[in-house]
Amino acid sequence: MDIFKPGGVTTIVNADRYEDIQLPFDTMSDRGGMFDNNIVITIDDCYNNQHVRAIFELLKNNGLRATFFPNTNYLLFDEETISLWQEIYQAGFEIGYHTTNHATHLSYADLEEDFWAFTQHMRALLEDDSFEINLVRAPYGVWYENWYLWSANNGLMSVDWNVLTEHQPERAELRLQEGISPIILLHSTAFDVEWLNANLNQLIMLARQYDGIVGSVYDCVHRE
Ligand SMILES: [Zn+2]
Repeated sequence: MDIFKPGGVTTIVNADRYEDIQLPFDTMSDRGGMFDNNIVITIDDCYNNQHVRAIFELLKNNGLRATFFPNTNYLLFDEETISLWQEIYQAGFEIGYHTTNHATHLSYADLEEDFWAFTQHMRALLEDDSFEINLVRAPYGVWYENWYLWSANNGLMSVDWNVLTEHQPERAELRLQEGISPIILLHSTAFDVEWLNANLNQLIMLARQYDGIVGSVYDCVHRE
């Protein structure tokens, strides 16, 4: 089993990495045990390359990884964007689906089409036709019936969040005290870059205090 070890050890993301793990349907159904006392870091939308890079490098330089949920409409095929996302991918960070354009309440058929367009966009950007998606996050956190049906039928795990950057890291501690794995949501804003800069050490210490780690969904998922 490929378990992440702190210190910059990285692996290429691909669907096989989850093969021995029974992925639950969503992160709401098993709040207590799914990520143990680990703190999951997620970054949504990814409309600003400079801030995405700052978050990526801050985590990487601390030997950590995270899960990105971009909208592919923001990911243009210019040199800067291509190299940023190829670096993210090659460093073993995860990339999940968040729709091409942040639309909500898509029909079942539109979700299938949009997911395919998203996947193809990422494969082209990453120059890797084997790129696969395991994780999905609904725009605005709106989990509606078609979303559930579609994600369940396709073996995808819906990932929500429970700590925002309007909160202090104490919110993550509160979650741990409640027996709930913290899932932090960042966006690619200057404020969120600053928040992570200011609070990452505290989050690492907090996870350690509970025998946990800080990482991507993959890094944090409970293993037997
Ligand atoms: Zn979003």
